[in-house]
Amino acid sequence: MKLSLLMDFDGTATDKDVTEVIFRRFARGNWRKWDKMALTLKVPVHKALSEQFRMVEATPEEVLSALDEEVHLREGLKELVAYLKEVEIPWIIVSEGADFYIKYILEREGLHPDMIFSYRSRFVRGHIEVEPLWMWEGCDRCGTCKRRIVKAFRHLGPVAYVGDSTTDFCVADTVDLLYARGYLKAFAEKQGIPHVPYLDLHQVRKHLKGFLEGEE
Ligand SMILES: [Mg+2]
Repeated sequence: MKLSLLMDFDGTATDKDVTEVIFRRFARGNWRKWDKMALTLKVPVHKALSEQFRMVEATPEEVLSALDEEVHLREGLKELVAYLKEVEIPWIIVSEGADFYIKYILEREGLHPDMIFSYRSRFVRGHIEVEPLWMWEGCDRCGTCKRRIVKAFRHLGPVAYVGDSTTDFCVADTVDLLYARGYLKAFAEKQGIPHVPYLDLHQVRKHLKGFLEGEE
């Protein structure tokens, strides 16, 4: 059975949360209140994100040039992706973010995941409209239900997951190998869920290589 590697995007594949960069620079109004409401479960995450993206006032060029200035890949991503290719492990992005910036940043860096699960997005009259595509009918929280996607991949074989965010919590106890930093690491520690802590993706690559070679 072949392993798949699923990866969060914002703050995992990249060095910072891309949505936060976009809202901080271009959202007009109190966008942070939506973060608070989503974190305290007063509104679904997908509702908060749709409202925040709608508060953005910018052209696509302005947003993309801000991303060029501020958002870089997390150290070691290119080496990890090259290793996955070498050992023929699929690399899948699962994101509670918008496809336009995921595709832009990966294209800019010459990286091509096997699949991307995210919100569909488009610029409409200076704002950004996002549409969740991967909700799960049993839960009205995230627009990309990572638990559902992980479960689908686990029908094919074991799943390794790399994440950092609150929207990664729901996969923590369903994956075979969990790489965690940030909020996800704190959550896994608190819940007693086995995980491998990481800061950069070189560490993930080295651990995964050892894990796979140990299995042979
Ligand atoms: Mg994240």
